[in-house]
Amino acid sequence: MPLKLYNTLTKSLEPFVPQDPDHIRFYTCGPTVYDDAHIGNFRSFLAADLLRRWLESPLCTLTDTEGNEHQGPRQVTHVMNITDVGHMTDDDNADGAGEDKMEVAARRILEAKKSGTLPPDAKVDPNNPFQIAQFYEARFKSDAKALGMKVAIDADKDPSLMPRATGNIKEMKQVIEDLLEKGDAYAAGSPGARAIYFNVQSFERYGKLSGNTLDQLKGGAGGRVDESNQSEKKHPADFLLWKEDASHKMKWPSPRVPGQDNWGDGYPGWHIECTAMALGRLIPGGLNAAKATHAHIDLHSGGEDNIFPHHECEIAQSCCFTGADHFATHWFHPRFLKVDGQKMSKSKGTMHTLADLTAKGFDPAAVRLELIKTHYRANADFSIQGLKDSTRTAQRWKRFIDAGKQGHPGEPNSAVRDAVVSAMNEDLNIAGAIGAINKWIKDTPDPTQADAELMTQFDAFLSVCDLLQDTPEAQDTGIALYQPGVTPSDEIESLLQQRAAAKKSKDFAAADAIRDQLTAMGLSIMDKPGGKVEVAIAN
Ligand SMILES: [Zn+2]
Repeated sequence: MPLKLYNTLTKSLEPFVPQDPDHIRFYTCGPTVYDDAHIGNFRSFLAADLLRRWLESPLCTLTDTEGNEHQGPRQVTHVMNITDVGHMTDDDNADGAGEDKMEVAARRILEAKKSGTLPPDAKVDPNNPFQIAQFYEARFKSDAKALGMKVAIDADKDPSLMPRATGNIKEMKQVIEDLLEKGDAYAAGSPGARAIYFNVQSFERYGKLSGNTLDQLKGGAGGRVDESNQSEKKHPADFLLWKEDASHKMKWPSPRVPGQDNWGDGYPGWHIECTAMALGRLIPGGLNAAKATHAHIDLHSGGEDNIFPHHECEIAQSCCFTGADHFATHWFHPRFLKVDGQKMSKSKGTMHTLADLTAKGFDPAAVRLELIKTHYRANADFSIQGLKDSTRTAQRWKRFIDAGKQGHPGEPNSAVRDAVVSAMNEDLNIAGAIGAINKWIKDTPDPTQADAELMTQFDAFLSVCDLLQDTPEAQDTGIALYQPGVTPSDEIESLLQQRAAAKKSKDFAAADAIRDQLTAMGLSIMDKPGGKVEVAIAN
């Protein structure tokens, strides 16, 4: 059966049918680069990466527009934007009220500089929002590549695959001016602080993606529409396209507003950037061609919190600009990640970053596997225990490939291939696919070259074994067995010897005190049969 994928727009599981089955055009709303991305952000981005890699796989079958089956491999052009302007602190506000995230970041960096906690290599001026954005953008891309996100790997060669909002102001203004001319947008407010809003009442299908109606939104819809600036708007759900504000730190000449030629500088709202960059980058011929041919893209993804207002607003402004029925025909929204069964929280220290986890000795390949292994429409639950399990799974997979390469030629295992393909084609049932792979590996103590080849083919979309670093050996000093990531030192060795002596003389209080001392140093110790002690990094 060809791939079926849940579509948020139709709220049903349906065949994924791109315009051209040989070349899919895919857009993902990328990070706002005002802070480091955490594992919750990466769960969503990696689900999109898994989908993109599955679409590219020779194993993936699609349905074409004639209803025939189309076998991969195929090309996917995947674009992910970098939001470096215009995204306000209060995400749920359709009209961009709230504080600019860059200014929040500037304060954070200033505080970090004062307290000396900024990374030593950081050259960033807290008063320069462009530098702040570039600082966090570089860190995001580095994490994204370490986690195998193909769009970030490809963007090294072709930066236009990860365009910056600030690099596309001209394109945003082109769309805004077009919407003003058509009456789908209007200007309001007093000179110096004017705004251009999208007129939601001019787009009949507004609300179709999220299930909101204009009437509900008019009534406030549970606080989903911001109270500020309501008096100058035609409808409470009208959203900001451009704000005139000459005092803003990031500002550009404003779009041309018919009949008003004295606008000061300003900055774009958040939503408009994705229309400009998705159509501008994914439609051959860019924005002009998109408008002339009423073009749309095949696939669009973002976190579930993007559905409203962000994606609703993207659809409205894009369809009014192009005159097409769709902005994207298929909408893909992975669910949030939980940590230890609870909502992630900064104060509880559960908003892990990749840097936190690699500092504890975890391999990015294991982090990737842990973040992709749950179905994208289920709330995944991240835990350190889960990450340890994923580490072992990743290492087992890699050993299987390495052993298979040394084995007999063998025959391809079509039963496993079919099981994995049918799981992946059923709305990316990754847990089913991983289950089939693990059972196969368990039942195959002597893998063949054909087994290694098949696992390598699976790994082209899983991207776990190709990321996995060679596991360093544990070091045995005679006194203790040091797990990878812990460097033996005289201090540790001496403490372990004192502890062994205390235990021998049955002074358990002294032995426990030494264990506590090692714990305070960030180490965990475990007594092994035969009297040896294993030292690892405490989690
Ligand atoms: Zn977006």
